[in-house]
Amino acid sequence: MELKEYWSDHAHSRDFKLIRIGFVAVRFRWLVTLLIIGIAGWIAVDWWVLDAAHFKLLWKVRLITGAMLTPLLPLSYLCKLNRRWMVLSLFALLVILLVFNAVSLWSFRDVAIMPAGYVAFPYFLLALLAVLPLPIRSGIRVAMLIIAAVLGTDYWLDSHTLINGQLVDRVWLLLCFSLAMMWVQSGQLRMLLDLYRESTRDPLTRLMNRRLFMQQLNAVRQDCKFGQNYTLILCDLDRFKRINDEHGHLMGDEVLVSVSTTLVDLFGPDAIIARYGGEEFIVLLPDTTLEQGVRQAQTLRLAVESQPIENPLDETEVMVTLSAGVVSGDKNSDLTLLINWADEALYEAKSQGRNCVVAHQPSITAAA
Ligand code: GH3
Ligand code: MG
Ligand code: MG
Repeated sequence: MELKEYWSDHAHSRDFKLIRIGFVAVRFRWLVTLLIIGIAGWIAVDWWVLDAAHFKLLWKVRLITGAMLTPLLPLSYLCKLNRRWMVLSLFALLVILLVFNAVSLWSFRDVAIMPAGYVAFPYFLLALLAVLPLPIRSGIRVAMLIIAAVLGTDYWLDSHTLINGQLVDRVWLLLCFSLAMMWVQSGQLRMLLDLYRESTRDPLTRLMNRRLFMQQLNAVRQDCKFGQNYTLILCDLDRFKRINDEHGHLMGDEVLVSVSTTLVDLFGPDAIIARYGGEEFIVLLPDTTLEQGVRQAQTLRLAVESQPIENPLDETEVMVTLSAGVVSGDKNSDLTLLINWADEALYEAKSQGRNCVVAHQPSITAAA
């Protein structure tokens, strides 16, 4: 896992972004529910602990805060769909809770020793927000908002000076809680990224698996502008069974890894390449015509053909070739049909003697 994946969600894939936001939305909903129950339920503690004047004001403040938090519950369903809704909801949650904190502290401005629950509220808030798998940059923003609000409230109510011993102590403690919050948040993010990777990557080649590939293909198709095309190259290693039979499965695996490295070297680390089946690979080239796709497939075929692969056991070398079927689609294409056509073109390449590229033509479909 790279550092930039911890830092910001810009480094995450579109698919993972959606998964993470869905996860955050569920946790956010639980958080809001617990806060509504907790803030209202605390009225019972206040009734026990506070004098009549403070209790009379604060039970209303608590109920109003609970009522203001309630619309965030339906909003959290929209968060699942859109990052902007998520940011907005989280911001609204923080603003409501920080105003609640400021009003509560204001009500105790004439009291020498405040009840512990109210003093601890910002720290409690930081601890609660650790349940969200946020990248560090978002964690810093959340922490800065809370610390700024606490300092602002303090300045307004109490000291009217920015530096005094109590304040330094409080900021220090808030920073410690913020660091702990970000540590737990990035730990959760890491766990989510690891699980995501395990469920979407092929364990041998680390290429995408078929499930993720189909999602990416669907996304590229949806983003496709009118008149724009994308191309699929479906390739299959030639006589691969023979390599397994003659050199063993270990060598077979080595060949699969080597071909996947050639694919990534040729199309780039961010290209949409998947291990489609046992010894089948598929490449999606967005914004590409059929002719460009065929040219790319030929380049791939030549790269694989000219790349000897060393057997890790006896250091002998094996040569391998592949056959490819190329097909082009647009915004309205049926994806199952498209892959079927690529398969037919690949079948045609195999029947033409292997180690060649065939583009899908309607006549091939008819012949097949
Ligand atoms: P063709 O040129 O017609 O494609 O012939 P082929 O031998 O490549 O095709 P066939 O479908 O007969 O054999 C594919 C072989 O790929 C069979 C299977 O044992 C092997 N295979 C599938 N997955 C793996 C794997 O992960 N590792 C290894 N070593 N072999 C695999
Ligand atoms: Mg094969
Ligand atoms: Mg095959």
